[in-house]
This record gives sequence, structure tokens and C-alpha cells, in this order.
Amino acid sequence: MAELRLYNTLARRKEPFRPLTAGQAGIYTCGPTVYAPAHIGNLRSYVFPDLLKKLLRVLGYRVTHVINITDVGHLTSNEDTGEDKLERAARQASRSAWEIAAQYTQAYLDDLERLHIEPPDHLPRATGHIAEQIALIRELEARGFTYRTADGIYFDTARFAGYGRLARLRVAGLQGGSRVELGEKRNKTDFALWKLSPPDARRQMEWESPWGRGFPGWHIECSAMSMKYLGRGFDIHTGGSDHIPVHHTNEIAQSEAATGEPFVRCWLHGEHLVLGEDQRMGKSEGNLITLGEVLARGFDPLAYRYLVLNSHYRKYLTFSWPALEAAATALTDLRRVLWEASDRSDTGAPAEAVAEAASDTSCSPREEELLEDLCDDLNTPKALDTLWTAFRDPAASNAEKIGLARYADRVLSLDLFDFSPFQERPLELPGGVGKMIVVGAGLEIPEVIALLVQAHVLARRAKNYVESDRLRDEIKRRGYIVRDRGGDHYEVEPARPGRRS
Ligand code: AMP
Ligand code: ZN
Repeated sequence: MAELRLYNTLARRKEPFRPLTAGQAGIYTCGPTVYAPAHIGNLRSYVFPDLLKKLLRVLGYRVTHVINITDVGHLTSNEDTGEDKLERAARQASRSAWEIAAQYTQAYLDDLERLHIEPPDHLPRATGHIAEQIALIRELEARGFTYRTADGIYFDTARFAGYGRLARLRVAGLQGGSRVELGEKRNKTDFALWKLSPPDARRQMEWESPWGRGFPGWHIECSAMSMKYLGRGFDIHTGGSDHIPVHHTNEIAQSEAATGEPFVRCWLHGEHLVLGEDQRMGKSEGNLITLGEVLARGFDPLAYRYLVLNSHYRKYLTFSWPALEAAATALTDLRRVLWEASDRSDTGAPAEAVAEAASDTSCSPREEELLEDLCDDLNTPKALDTLWTAFRDPAASNAEKIGLARYADRVLSLDLFDFSPFQERPLELPGGVGKMIVVGAGLEIPEVIALLVQAHVLARRAKNYVESDRLRDEIKRRGYIVRDRGGDHYEVEPARPGRRS
């Protein structure tokens, strides 16, 4: 069986995965700040933990996965200043912060479902875990890691040896600092554990605490909730690469300062989705594309998942609509191969091929190769390549392709056996009936298009290429693409936009 190796940001290298408890794996993923819809960049950061979790299951692990919901404490600035993102969104929309949080939590869960990201075992909300956060701050206080300023309780990073190890921060230059820069903070890297509500104003989300009315800092929530559900030390923590220098650095400091033990064994960070050179997609950058827009443009959401899998999670992924179009085509092509290999029955694979694939509990060499790809730090581009190579191999049997695809889809979750995009209708031709395959789920193509396709095919048969090209262009002008698939099979697909998936 392949050995799982993961790139651990702490060590800056791939390491074999060694769980704390044999046969079990605990994963914590920093969840969304629910003040706006997630953009497709955010969603990329939830695909790789999903792959990891499914891969660990294939490898026989029992996995506990936690994703938190940040519904309080995430300020507009990383420097513990600025407004709470939830309170600001509520003010701008003239709604309650609780309503905003509920709306965008649900929107996030809907996005996960569309992308076949399995819901986590626990989805703790920060506002539902105030007592745990206060308890953790009290531990830090008892151990002498905290101090009070006019606006809150802060963590003294100079007291924690090894602060900044994850990000390789050169703290010498960061700790200390000029009085003006620091305000009441002792070191530039110090961060708020508990922020006090302003004395003259009431926040919508605030709680009594031993230090006064206020709300928790963003970092403490992830420490408190991960430890509650996974234990004081656990296996894997994931997030986007932007979390390395501040959020995760601070999580490590406060968790290890409180427990005196190592917090997380393996830190995995996903690189950003960008729109071009140095152009991160971000809520604050105002250049967001949501999954809603992807759907509105007629894409299957799994085409986006395919696009994500086609890049390694630690590499930048440059998003463009043509790239998504190419991913959609590739996904349709994979499904078509299986559809054809399955005798085009609606149920997926033909009975004997499925039985053959299911009864074979050993890994075929190709399945082993695919597993090796995934075990190599989730190398999904390579896994897709292995799948494609098998699909293109004339020597590969249908049963082999079907078996490999079933195996791959346990982790890739691309719905490879979704044949709903393909419908077959007869194409009346002289001397026999050809087939017209309509691509696009639930799509009824207009009769005029069917007639034009028929005329196009007849013109081709008569070698009247000028006419057949003219008809193909006419079909295109009317919003459809026709392809000759050989053997009297013609495929018709609507051109985007307006294609239903
Ligand atoms: P937020 O909702 O802002 O707390 O972010 C949720 C997750 O999305 C975090 O893991 C971030 O690191 C991640 N993230 C933010 N921007 C991007 C991006 N452009 N590409 C990939 N992940 C991102
Ligand atoms: Zn977090």
C-alpha cells in the first residue's frame, strides 16, 4: 500500500504521515468568515482537505474533520484594529449580524454540496464557543502570557520561545517597536485574545467575561474549537497560505503556551487562486467570482472542481473563464468515455463490468499508480493524467476503465458516472439510422437544430463540404456546436452561455 506523504509547512518538506493514534486522523480546517458569499478562491481552500479526508479513508483511516464558522472577531485589519467584519456587513445591510451569519453559513454549506465537498463531522461556530475561548484565555493568563491594554487582553509574543517558527518570521525585527507604532502593545507581533466593547457603544455580538464585556479575537477561536473537537494536540491543520504569517502563527503560540505541548503535527497550506500576475482574488480586493456566477454561466459546478484538481494545491491557480470552459470539456470527455464504455446504459457501467470491478478487491497496477499519485502530497494533476492515459490506451478494456474511474472517484468526487449530460436520439439517414448525441443535462434541442444537423450530415456524406460547412456555421450561429464522433454518431452541444448543466 502506498505511503502518504504530505508537505508540512512547519518542516518545509514532504513528510510521511504519522498519526497520533494509529488508524485515526484528526483534521482542522479554518472555515469561512460568514459576512459575504465565499468566492471561488476561498472554495479552493476547502477542496484539498476534502481530497485528503477521502484519501485517508481509502487508506483505512477513521477521519474526524472539523471546519469552523467564523461569525465573530475577524477584524478588517490584521493588526487588531478596524471593525468586526460581521458587524460592518450588518450595519451596511441594516440587518442583524446574526442574520448575516446564518445566511452566509447556509450559502457556504450549499457551495460545499455543489462542489462535492463532504460536510465536516463538526461545524462549530465561534459564537457558540465563547466559554471555551474564555477558559483558554484564562489558562494563558494563569501562565503569565497575557497583559491588559485599554481595549483588550493581549498575548505577549516575546514570552513564547519559538514565536513565528511556522512562517520563519525574523522576530528580532518585529518584536519591540516604536511607541507610536505599538500603541499600548508591547510587541508588534502581539495580538488580541479578548477585545473589550467600546464603553460608549453596544455591539450586536458581545459577551460578559472576567475582563469585561467584549468579544474574542479571531485566532483564539480556532485554538479553542480545534482542541475541543480534536484534542489538545492533533494531526493536521489546513488553511490558505495567507494564514501562515499571522493567524496560524498565533494559533500555535497561544495553544502551545496554554498546554505546554505541541499543537499540530502537520500544517498544510493551499496556494491562492489568482486572476493574473499577483492578483489574488479576495473579498477585500473586490474582484470576486462566486460559485453562483459559475452556475449562472451554465457550468456544472464540478467543472470548477476539475479545474482545481488539475493544479497542485500548493501552486497558484490562475482562473479564467476559458480555463473553466476547458475543464468543463475535459470532464465531459471523461464521462463520455465511461458512458461509451458502459454501453450507454443509464445506470452507469454494464452489469458484468461493474461486478468484475467490485469483486476485485486487490488494486490493479493502474489503481496503484493513481493511489501513489494521490499519496504524493495530493498530486491530483498526476492522478488525472493517470486516468487519461488509461482512457486513451487502446489496450485498456472497458471493465478496466470503469474500475479505475470508480476507484479514482472515491477521492476525486467528480461524478464520473453521471451520464445525465448525454442523451441519444436517432438520426434518420439514408441506408441506416445514425445517432445524435445531445450533450447538456436535461436539454431538449430545438427541432430546427435537429433538422440542420441532419442536413449537415447528408451534405457531408455527399461530399458537399461547402454546404456541410455552411450548415455547421448556421448551427453555430443558432448557438449549437456539432461534432462528428465517427461511426455515424454526431454530437450536438449548446455553446455557452445559456447552457444548462
Ligand atoms: P475567509 O472567509 O476570508 O476567512 O477565508 C476562508 C479561506 O479562504 C481561508 O482558508 C483563506 O486562506 C482562503 N483564501 C482567501 N483568499 C483565497 C484565494 N484567493 N485563493 C485560495 N484561498 C483563499
Ligand atoms: Zn482559523
